[in-house]
Amino acid sequence: MKVKMILPALTEAESPFWRPIKYSLFPPLGLATLASYLSDEDEIELIDQHVEILNIDDTPDLVVIQVYITNAYRSYKIADSYRKKGVYVILGGLHVTSLPDEAAAHADSIFIGPGEETFPTFLKDFKNREPKKVYNSSIRTLKSIPPIRRDLIKRNRYLVPNSIVVTRGCPHHCDFCYKDAFYEGGKSFYTQAVDDALAEIERLPGRHLYFLDDHLLGNAKFATELFEGMKGMNRVFQGAGTVDSVLRGNLIEKAVEAGLRSLFVGFETFSDANLKQSNKGQNLKRDYSQAVKRLHSLGIMINGSFVFGLDDDDKDVFKRTVDWGIENSITTSTYHVLTPYPGTRLYKDMEKQDRILSRNWDLYDTRNVVYKTTNLSAKELEDGYNWSYKEFYKWSNIFESSIKHDSNKHKLKHFFYSGGWKKFEPLWNFLIKTKNLNNTLPFLESVLSKVENKKSKTKQIDLNRHIL
Ligand code: SF4
Repeated sequence: MKVKMILPALTEAESPFWRPIKYSLFPPLGLATLASYLSDEDEIELIDQHVEILNIDDTPDLVVIQVYITNAYRSYKIADSYRKKGVYVILGGLHVTSLPDEAAAHADSIFIGPGEETFPTFLKDFKNREPKKVYNSSIRTLKSIPPIRRDLIKRNRYLVPNSIVVTRGCPHHCDFCYKDAFYEGGKSFYTQAVDDALAEIERLPGRHLYFLDDHLLGNAKFATELFEGMKGMNRVFQGAGTVDSVLRGNLIEKAVEAGLRSLFVGFETFSDANLKQSNKGQNLKRDYSQAVKRLHSLGIMINGSFVFGLDDDDKDVFKRTVDWGIENSITTSTYHVLTPYPGTRLYKDMEKQDRILSRNWDLYDTRNVVYKTTNLSAKELEDGYNWSYKEFYKWSNIFESSIKHDSNKHKLKHFFYSGGWKKFEPLWNFLIKTKNLNNTLPFLESVLSKVENKKSKTKQIDLNRHIL
């Protein structure tokens, strides 16, 4: 049968402020994972509307659409138009799981939660001509999942074609995060078998990997064995972890030995009241600067994530956060306006308090204010958010932040990584247009090469004594 798998473009990807590079980073791994359950006889087309034109004049046997909150309306339009022609359409993803009734009006079948168990079940039902309206995930395992259909991915359209996910979910329960809603009704944190994860890594060409796991260091036993297995593979990789996992034990050193060179860290807020409000206990009473020092002493660059608009935030939060990032030489910062995604505890709380101002999902892009704020006005929050990005990425601040590192190599890496990411838009656009993005990989790999310096090693020994 003919199967068309579609990732519709996020609404913000078409805004005048769209930075095309931001939406050309990673291929649609979720859809490529589901594609692996289709048979060799099936004719599969995988379309990522962020990097290619979507034509909906065709009539495949089955259309599979991945729905996020800010592509929901676009997804529904695409779904409606296929269904009018009699094509069977299924919808799944975070937004479908949060608002199944809304999605069901535009689909023949919907998928709630992860699809590794439900999609193959659906395929059997579909072939037997008895598909159900709703597929609800309950069994959560990554045992014996088939290899991802990476052959369907147009590698040259992405800066990071080698993205990989070896776990699902996260051990924590932050109120603003989709995780608990998506994994409700079953395990919310589980891993692949280490050997399967290593086999998937082996299949990826080149050196660079980007682990898109919510918390790569979340299961210490799994991560230890994974990093052990990766030693000698000559990989460099990026991933995400918490402040707590950086400060605890020596897992982070093992990650570095395996090739970790940059870490996405959810600092989110400096306020204890905000952390408590968000149920982000893993950050409470953790010394953020100590975590930063530890990462830097290991030569790891940091992408810090920060949320603005929690109830304890005041007008100074923007300057405080940007200054801290520069002072602590955070390589890149990702700022978000607090966004109460439907299905999350934050949304439910705000709904109870009558604080949700808009249910236009296109605005739920972490740039717009969609709820009643407390200490800040909505305008102050949006202005502060925009100011923070501009301020943090000023050349003078990138320079100031870079030169604080101990080694010259780390200074240069920081300068090129941060400047390259935010300041070379015309070059990125040219590479995207000419479909040459992944030719920049050797450059990225060299920016992610290992930093060693005696001073940092001495510091690390001191830091270990302090922490352990
Ligand atoms: S640590 Fe990150 S992934 Fe885990 S629940 Fe919190 S926000 Fe979500």
